Amino acid sequence: MSKHHRDRSWAPAPEPLPEDARTIDNHTHVASVVPFSKAMSHEAEMKRQPPVPVYSVSELLDQAAAVGIEGVIDSGCELPDLMTAVQMALDHPGVVHAALAIHPNESVLHGHRGVPGPDGLELKYKPHHDVPFDQALAEVHRLAVAYPEQVVAIGETGMDFFRTGGSARELQRQAFRDHIALAKELNLPMQIHDRDAHREVIETLLADGAPEFTVFHSYSGDAEMAKVAREHGWYLSMSGTVSYKGNDGIRESARIVGLDHVMVETDAPYLAPMPYRGRTNAPYMIPYTLAALADVFDLPVAEVARATRRVTRTVYGV
Ligand SMILES: [Zn+2]
Repeated sequence: MSKHHRDRSWAPAPEPLPEDARTIDNHTHVASVVPFSKAMSHEAEMKRQPPVPVYSVSELLDQAAAVGIEGVIDSGCELPDLMTAVQMALDHPGVVHAALAIHPNESVLHGHRGVPGPDGLELKYKPHHDVPFDQALAEVHRLAVAYPEQVVAIGETGMDFFRTGGSARELQRQAFRDHIALAKELNLPMQIHDRDAHREVIETLLADGAPEFTVFHSYSGDAEMAKVAREHGWYLSMSGTVSYKGNDGIRESARIVGLDHVMVETDAPYLAPMPYRGRTNAPYMIPYTLAALADVFDLPVAEVARATRRVTRTVYGV
């Protein structure tokens, strides 16, 4: 056993945002935090560590509200999670809205059993992948039309070359193009997942024409990319990674596009901000990321929070 075992406990709540500086976590997966917290709790019990509480979706939203996070946009991006996100929005009106898509790593699996991942390993195939991609995307379309108050964005879609080997890349590109077309048809903003695929994502957006509101979720690009985003009026959503040492390119990018094109997100349960990198992330941790952004812009946290709130309203209408 290593003495450097990971701390699985919840990070403490940050200092609440001022009453007049409440904001929104514009990209998260709250339902996925619940099973994470169950696993954390179980592990603590097995190792006879102090108990780790399991939190429900409602409790996680209450904890967020208590520190000034007045709402979330929850992304359902696997076929079984689409209605989960919509239902969460129905259950928490005005607090939860949904973004729907078939994630790039999912898109390649639909109807394509045996797509190779890194080192030729097969990506994890689940029963819902028997549904062809077109049918899965039709479900995104159907729910977005059926629940216009709840579904405020198409996302996350894009390209991910980290996990996906060469032969799947064309499948991803086509799926991304289909999502771009859908976002434009429904006149919805689009949240982009771009992992190790900056050039290809930008090429595809420029070739097909980006939706009016295009957001790079958990933005991971450099200054060059930020200049392209600025030129086209695209938005950068900052996750905890903006606070990580070594991510100067992300911080510089925020300054390049400016506060009126920056939003904030958790992408929970992953990407917890400093000083709690590695812990389970949840929407209540947004103020830590805002503190990092405040450093980037050399402005008070409240001012940065208010700016992200304004941008969120402009982009999603919420
Ligand atoms: Zn995500």
